[in-house]
Amino acid sequence: MLNIILGGAPGSGKGTISELISKEYGLEHLSTGDVLRAEIKSGSALGQEIGDLISKGNLVPDAKMIDLLEHFLDGLAPDCKGVIFDGFPRTLQQAKALTEMLARRNMDAVMMDLFAEEQVIIDRLINRGKKSGRADDNLETIKKRLSVYHAETQPVSAYYVGEHKYFYINSNINPDYTFAQIQTIVKLLN
Ligand code: AMP
Repeated sequence: MLNIILGGAPGSGKGTISELISKEYGLEHLSTGDVLRAEIKSGSALGQEIGDLISKGNLVPDAKMIDLLEHFLDGLAPDCKGVIFDGFPRTLQQAKALTEMLARRNMDAVMMDLFAEEQVIIDRLINRGKKSGRADDNLETIKKRLSVYHAETQPVSAYYVGEHKYFYINSNINPDYTFAQIQTIVKLLN
């Protein structure tokens, strides 16, 4: 099984690259952001609670996210070739919980961490916001999301470095270049 945690700040290219990886290697793509946005769209009470957090650029509490992951992992088909975790884990607690959840299922994962410069990220997200209409792709919320990323999510990278499951990816140029680096690493892993 090939399980890839795609790390990186908002706007580093996780969504775009996940689609390329999932097509090339036939992996399941879990975007926690997409799952949460579907919950908001459904109009449920949980959706309303989550909607407030997301539109302000805050994270959804760890316990809810870890639950979501348990359900997702339980639903994987036995012949699943692997998973791309896009947007999870976003905190150290989520990362440690993921290690345990995977170990219980005889699975593990490597992190591929996408890096792009802050101005490149801001430009990408502002542009995406014009098309997607996402409530959190405006300058004020983007800045908040980046500060949450630096405070809460960046420690996750150090965690995977310590686990010897970490790969740095330059995502500053274009999707082809980003994807080529990932293909090289996947070859090395096989
Ligand atoms: P994304 O589509 O990955 O940029 O996620 C959009 C928003 O969903 C984030 O800014 C968070 O508010 C929320 N979210 C997504 N994944 C997680 C997670 N693993 N933990 C907490 N909140 C999350």
